[in-house]
Amino acid sequence: MKMIKKIAALKKEIKALRQKHKTIGFVPTMGALHAGHVKLIRCARKQNSIVIVSIFVNPAQFGPAEDFKKYPRTLLNDAAVCRKEGVDIIFSPSVAQMYPSVRGTYVTVEGLSNVLCGAGRPGHFRGVATVVTKLMNIVEPDTMYLGQKDAQQAAVVKRMARDLFISGKIRVIPTVRQKNGLALSSRNAYLSEKEKNDAASLYQSLMLAQKLVKSGLNDAGLIIRRMKGLLAKFKSVKIDYVSVLDAQTFIPLKKAKRGCLVALAARVGKTRLIDNIVIPKSSL
Ligand code: AMP
Repeated sequence: MKMIKKIAALKKEIKALRQKHKTIGFVPTMGALHAGHVKLIRCARKQNSIVIVSIFVNPAQFGPAEDFKKYPRTLLNDAAVCRKEGVDIIFSPSVAQMYPSVRGTYVTVEGLSNVLCGAGRPGHFRGVATVVTKLMNIVEPDTMYLGQKDAQQAAVVKRMARDLFISGKIRVIPTVRQKNGLALSSRNAYLSEKEKNDAASLYQSLMLAQKLVKSGLNDAGLIIRRMKGLLAKFKSVKIDYVSVLDAQTFIPLKKAKRGCLVALAARVGKTRLIDNIVIPKSSL
């Protein structure tokens, strides 16, 4: 496994791999790797001759009051995880490499970037779309692997790639969870044991939504109220949003329907967590 820090060195390596007709699977991450990331890496490993994982804590997607400085950075451990999973290249550039201009170029995906997490985190998805554009231009992967846990991020990136004619497939991989349902996240490291237990209520509320839809209820307002009622039982949980949406357009729905997305964000203690499910088509 190679650890590459410079863009020019990675491009040279990729050019040589392309000449050998290798297919490249790419997993962009911010590091602090967990079993969710590993699932993406394993999909990439199965489907490509070369797997590249990027580890870059992207300052452009953090707001001024957010956790950029304290975001967990565990490069040595991440390298061990990648080696074990048969990753070929880790790309871990510096901020100066990725953002060479003081007043640089940014990519904004209109509309999709301003709802849900975008409403509470202005500029977040501009930062995401910008860094993924840069990474896709550097790596030019055959397939890029993203997680369903960050459903809005995946939607923004797909729209960006479509609108800017960036080639390469994008595959979205189901969310990996703890036994109690809590979606794995690098930010779970901030949670106390009690908060980890309370945070399972996020998934419980999503399961409640699924159960209600299965039982024939489709009034989105009512579903959201029932979910909020469940979450309100946990003192450490402060809801940011709960929404029932069209999974492609992210337009809020009045009536829950087959394949719709139920998404939420909440603070558990001081930690902001997100989660979502797509209501299975066969459940209606
Ligand atoms: P991050 O390092 O948090 O930026 O995540 C890197 C990639 O891993 C993103 O595409 C995430 O959606 C994905 N990911 C994070 N957590 C999970 C999870 N629990 N299950 C599946 N994918 C995940």
